[in-house]
Amino acid sequence: MSGGEFYRASSVQEALDLLAKYGAKAHVLAGGTDIMVKVNRRQLAPEVLVYIGECGLNYIKDLGDKVVIGGATPFAEILRSDVVKKKLPLLAEAVKHIGTPAIRNVGTIGGNLVTASPAADSSVPLLALGASVKLASKSGERVVPLEGFFKGPGETVRKPDELLVEVIVPVPDKDLKFAYHKIGRRKAGTLSVVAGAVVFKAEGAPRGTALARDQACYFEKCTQARVVLNAVAPTPLVAKRASALLEGSALDAELIAKIAKTAAEETSPIDDVRASAWYRRQASEGLVKSLLERIVA
Ligand SMILES: Cc1cc2nc3c(=O)[nH]c(=O)nc-3n(C[C@H](O)[C@H](O)[C@H](O)COP(=O)(O)OP(=O)(O)OC[C@H]3O[C@@H](n4cnc5c(N)ncnc54)[C@H](O)[C@@H]3O)c2cc1C
Repeated sequence: MSGGEFYRASSVQEALDLLAKYGAKAHVLAGGTDIMVKVNRRQLAPEVLVYIGECGLNYIKDLGDKVVIGGATPFAEILRSDVVKKKLPLLAEAVKHIGTPAIRNVGTIGGNLVTASPAADSSVPLLALGASVKLASKSGERVVPLEGFFKGPGETVRKPDELLVEVIVPVPDKDLKFAYHKIGRRKAGTLSVVAGAVVFKAEGAPRGTALARDQACYFEKCTQARVVLNAVAPTPLVAKRASALLEGSALDAELIAKIAKTAAEETSPIDDVRASAWYRRQASEGLVKSLLERIVA
């Protein structure tokens, strides 16, 4: 990179002042694992870079019914956090599969979301858990549900003078059932071909647990259901029709198959270097089915 100005913000206020002053000319730099790739490939030549790694946005706060994660918190910190392990095990599970240790040491949760890659891996557990993000600018703060944050590949509702300061994650009930899996071209250190999570609360007595009992009704009633996939649509996807099938329903093998098929129908994948659209759609169906089967097994 040459010719640009570099600022190391020592507080959130200083970062916000710089973003207000330079507007769209300024780019935030957190861990640099996305933005510096673009700079090095000459796809981006920022006039102003505002480094936010030392402005006090690296924290994880346990506020009882929610966990608040500072926007510049690296994934390695999230992975080490006892609060996350205990209260947000789905997030802990997904973060394990992001990049490599070197990437997780510097790559941040805020950077992952603002990059708005359809394959952003932290988006899957965060959407499943109903997380929101807090955006701050010199003129104030606003909280945006993550579901309304992404607009398209690389696009979010964030304005150029806004900093993603916090990710707010409601703490799910202890008995929330969940499963997560990431399919990549390798087992580790790779971007998602498709990753997914299923969450729901089961009400009523579980009836039968062995998948071998093919038509068993596993749970009498499922609520707070969410089926989420990434890398199969322009933005990380909450599969609304699949989630609605599960919501309020008794879960049996037939419904599992229907939910998986519906989730795949909701995708709009593309062919790219990692997989074909056809493969991604097939994989989405198989993934959702196996996540549900893992929960009931
Ligand atoms: C080898 C490699 C492997 C990877 N593997 C994965 C993977 O498995 N899964 C995955 O999801 N991603 C992966 N990534 C992508 C990347 O590591 C993540 O998206 C990471 O979380 C980006 O965070 P960062 O702090 O490095 O962001 P940066 O590169 O610093 O910033 C990314 C973008 O977000 C903006 N930004 C950053 N923080 C803020 C903020 N707080 N407020 C406003 N704007 C902000 C920047 O201006 C920039 O546009 C990988 C990248 C590499 C190079």
